[in-house]
Parts: sequence; C-alpha cells; structure tokens
Amino acid sequence: MQHDAGHDAPDVLIVGGGVIGCAIAYYGACAGLRVTLIDGERIGAGASGAAAGMLAPQVEAHQPDDFFDFGLAGRAEHARLAPQLLDEAGLDVEYRQTGILRLALEEREAVDLRGRAIWQRGRGLAAEWLEPDQVGTLEPAFGGAAGKRLVGALWLPEEGQVRSPRLVQALAAAAIRRGAVLHEGLPATSLQREGDRVTGVRTPAGVLRAGTVVLAAGAWSGALAATAGLHLPVEPIKGQIIVLGSLRRAPRHILWSGECYVAPKADGLVMVGATEERAGFDRRPTLSGVLQLALGATNLLPELGRLSVETQWGGLRPALPDRLPVIGWAAGCENLLLATAHFRNGVLLGPLTGKLATEMLLGKAPSWDLSPYSPERLSPTRQ
Ligand SMILES: Cc1cc2nc3c(=O)[nH]c(=O)nc-3n(C[C@H](O)[C@H](O)[C@H](O)COP(=O)(O)OP(=O)(O)OC[C@H]3O[C@@H](n4cnc5c(N)ncnc54)[C@H](O)[C@@H]3O)c2cc1C
Repeated sequence: MQHDAGHDAPDVLIVGGGVIGCAIAYYGACAGLRVTLIDGERIGAGASGAAAGMLAPQVEAHQPDDFFDFGLAGRAEHARLAPQLLDEAGLDVEYRQTGILRLALEEREAVDLRGRAIWQRGRGLAAEWLEPDQVGTLEPAFGGAAGKRLVGALWLPEEGQVRSPRLVQALAAAAIRRGAVLHEGLPATSLQREGDRVTGVRTPAGVLRAGTVVLAAGAWSGALAATAGLHLPVEPIKGQIIVLGSLRRAPRHILWSGECYVAPKADGLVMVGATEERAGFDRRPTLSGVLQLALGATNLLPELGRLSVETQWGGLRPALPDRLPVIGWAAGCENLLLATAHFRNGVLLGPLTGKLATEMLLGKAPSWDLSPYSPERLSPTRQ
C-alpha cells in the first residue's frame, strides 16, 4: 500500500518528533519546504520531553574547540527563536538567561574553574570567579553555613535555559501553522532503500514516500539506519531527574557541582539532574538513581533536603562513541539526512541543527562547517 501522509509525497519526511525532528520541521516549513513528520509515540515522548532544558555550553567545556563554538551558536539561536515561537505558536518556551553558578567544594575543582574563567574571558565571554562571600551575595541560599563549605564558584551569567517539552510543542505547533503535517502514533518500521536512495519509509499504515528522508529518531536511530544497511552506532545513555516543589527556597540561578545540577524553573519547580547510565532502553527511574541525585543535591545545598519531591523520570540520550552529534547526508545514500546523537546537548543544539539541516535540505552548503559531525567519520573503516 502507498500511503499519502497528507501531502502528495512531501519534499521532506522526518522520522522522530523530538527537539531535533521538530526543529527541522519548523525551520524547513519556514523555508517553504513541504514537510511531514512522523513519531511512533507522540511529540516529545523521547529524551526531549525528559530534558532539564539547560543551554549551557560554557559550564562543561574544558577547552576552546569547535564543539564549544557550536554550542555558543546554539545558545544564541535560542535567544532569536523564543520570541518568534511566542509570536507564531503562542507558547512561552520559558527561555531565560538565569546564569549558572558552577560551585567548587574542593580546592582542586577551584583550580580548574579559575583556569576556565581565564580562557573563556579571553574568548570575550562572561566568566567570573567568585569567592564564597560573593557567592552568598549573588545566591542568598549560600549566605549562611552552606556558603562556608564552598571554595568559591565560577559565575557564568550568559548561560540559560528553556522548558524542553514546551520547546518541542512550540516548534511542532509553529511548524503545523506553516503547513507541516505531523502524525503521532505512526512508527517507521524500516527504511526502504534501492541503491543509493531511500525510496520510502515503511509504517504500519503503508509506505510513505518523500523526496528526502530525515532520520531524527534519537536513541532509536541506529536500528532504523540498519534497515537501510547503514552503520549508525547510536546507543541510549539514560538520564534521571527528580523534580522538587519549592515556593520559598528555590535558588535563583542554576547551581552546578561535579555531582549534579539544580535548575529552578519559571513555575517554582526545581529540577535536579541527571544521572548518566547504560541501562539499555529502560527509561524508568530507579531507587539508586534517585538516591544519587538526592545525595548530590543535599551535599551541594543541604536546604534542598526540605523540599517536597513532586515527581521523577528518566530519558534516553542518543549517543555515538565519540559523544558528538551526526548531522549530514548518509554515506552512500544521497537523499537520507542523519540528524541525531546530540547526547547531553540536544536541547541546546536543536534549533541550530534545525536551521543547518534545512540549509542542506535546500541543497545549500550549511552556514556552519559540519565536517566534525559528518556521517563519514562513522564509517567502520575510519574507526
Ligand atoms: C535527563 C536528561 C536531561 C537532559 N538535559 C539536557 C539539557 O539540560 N540540555 C540539553 O541540551 N540536552 C539535555 N539532554 C539531552 C537531550 O534531551 C537530547 O540530546 C535530545 O532531546 C535528543 O533529541 P532527539 O530529537 O534527537 O531525540 P528524542 O527526543 O529522543 O526524540 C526521538 C523521537 O523519535 C521517536 N521515534 C523513535 N523511534 C521511532 C520510529 N521508529 N518511528 C517514528 N518515531 C520514532 C520517539 O518517539 C521520539 O519522540 C538531557 C537528556 C536527558 C535524558
């Protein structure tokens, strides 16, 4: 059976409705492409619905490299996109530049963080080392005994956050307004390949045809790529989050230690994340995951132990062995674009990926050099 997914064979068929697929749907629809997106479950059902939504390229960067610059560009794209989505979809993605305090509880961490402040300032970024009393002034939670346990903190005021599930919903809603067609509950069961082209995507409702197919199925992308004979070794890396309720005691800024992060959201909830585990495709939260986060959070700020636990969840980050994303045309398959494996940074890089993937779908050279993220590096002969 041939299945027409709403258009008569769209220009682009996207498999996967996470932040990556929905961003490509939105930017693609803005550029005038006829886009159809399918998701086996629902929009945001994967890692994107579970993410803490931090836009934090500076906090974990150990050296200036292409991925660091890519992350900064990803963060800047959010600042442009958020008001546009509010205007087009009427949804507030809660983009806020709350800043991150990367706290040092030991001298050895402080040495590393002071060094980070120096090279990041050299790149024109805001990055300031704070002594414990300055931390207490900025973040009152550290004004008393909690501050005395600190060696200091790296203050990164340009780091920010969004509400990740809301971002996915807003991208999807704005894409639909611009003519994209979305189908939830419609899984791709395999890719149909003939020679150097994907000729269709098989689903329980029949084969969907499109000029170009985008594989953005997150942690599930590898299995689908294999059906077209492609080597895409994406594995799921589980992350767990606990959500705390707090009307009075929420920190003002994102707090980050070597053990966990604590992200206050616009509605007063506080997300504590995230574990990093190999657990196959099981995304359920576990007792040891919750324990690890609870210990990390209370070690950072004992006061957090008094907050109520509202909920907890897990999600599966899509990751390649080198922990870098893949964005580009599949080797030997001229109309299949791969856009996945953003690991810990899919929310940060989602909109920028949507923009660059759209440039490629339009037949243009992408406006960012994507060679570090090219599918060619995954060829078994290159590893
Ligand atoms: C706990 C946690 C915290 C995180 N925090 C952050 C953060 O603060 N900042 C940040 O930048 N990143 C963060 N991440 C990482 C980020 O969530 C991911 O990198 C990103 O969401 C990946 O997006 P995606 O669209 O590739 O995949 P997903 O969001 O997993 O979407 C894939 C979609 O494909 C669908 N699908 C799967 N198989 C099929 C099929 N056969 N047919 C059709 N559809 C299919 C799924 O249903 C799913 O909706 C976090 C992740 C976790 C788990």
